[in-house]
Amino acid sequence: MAHVLRYCHREKIPTFVLGKGSNVLFDDRGFNGCVILNRVEFIEPGQENLFRAGAGVGFNTLGILTARLGFTGLEFASGIPGTVGGAVFMNAGAHGCETGDVVDSVEIVTAEGTSRTLTRDNGELAWSYRTSPFQQMEGLAAIVAATFKLDKSGDARKRQLTFMDSRRQTQPITAKTAGCVFRNPGGGQPSAGALLDQLGLKGLSIGGAQVSEKHANFLVNTGSATCEDIRVLIDEVKKRVKEKTEVELHEEIRYVPHGYSSQQ
Ligand SMILES: Cc1cc2nc3c(=O)[nH]c(=O)nc-3n(C[C@H](O)[C@H](O)[C@H](O)COP(=O)(O)OP(=O)(O)OC[C@H]3O[C@@H](n4cnc5c(N)ncnc54)[C@H](O)[C@@H]3O)c2cc1C
Repeated sequence: MAHVLRYCHREKIPTFVLGKGSNVLFDDRGFNGCVILNRVEFIEPGQENLFRAGAGVGFNTLGILTARLGFTGLEFASGIPGTVGGAVFMNAGAHGCETGDVVDSVEIVTAEGTSRTLTRDNGELAWSYRTSPFQQMEGLAAIVAATFKLDKSGDARKRQLTFMDSRRQTQPITAKTAGCVFRNPGGGQPSAGALLDQLGLKGLSIGGAQVSEKHANFLVNTGSATCEDIRVLIDEVKKRVKEKTEVELHEEIRYVPHGYSSQQ
């Protein structure tokens, strides 16, 4: 990956690192550059409850594996259909837990192709709701691995299965979606999904894009949705929510424009 990144940097070719694409929306014209599909896949159990995983490992896989081995901290990852790199970049979370809670260190490659490790102990990893230090990091090209610090627990597997079950009941996990579209507004407001539900927006559709009937914060591609359909539906939903509740919704999903020039 470092070799490809160095080449693209030298040739001034824009790059976009893709995990499983479970939270991105590409422009209908595609991406005018090089999409690097991250498949750095390995899992190394270390000492002191540490697990080092390649950024291309399925986050779901890591969540299930660690819970099965009797470690707590990543049960919430089960059912999140992204990669470790995507989860670190997005600070993915569920059931009151976030990726950043259990990250000990992150290995990255810069646009020039050099490697660097950022650690919790050195205060280099500051997280907040769906926000990681990598989203604004100057010169970042790719996350290549992350090390997680977990704790031993007798009921981790049970908790992981409960989380997975609740996900099956409440989310359209077999539909074509890109996960939750809006960040929760916070400040004592209901979740984005609950707000949309209260306003009767479930089922609202534009072209092939539809607000999920199962969970209103998911937009479903019913078969023929274009990126434009999804974007128009997002704008329509935001407009209606603002008109009725004064709440300004912001996207969690990441739109990748045709002329995107670096990690944004
Ligand atoms: C059914 C469903 C359920 C979901 N449930 C949840 C949930 O409960 N909680 C939650 O937080 N999210 C959820 N998501 C959203 C999504 O799965 C997560 O955000 C996930 O972490 C994204 O990982 P990914 O590998 O697919 O990233 P992608 O969608 O491929 O990329 C997302 C962003 O991360 C960047 N990125 C990815 N990998 C790297 C890397 N190695 N280096 C640098 N940048 C990188 C990309 O450039 C992009 O900007 C859900 C999605 C779906 C479809």
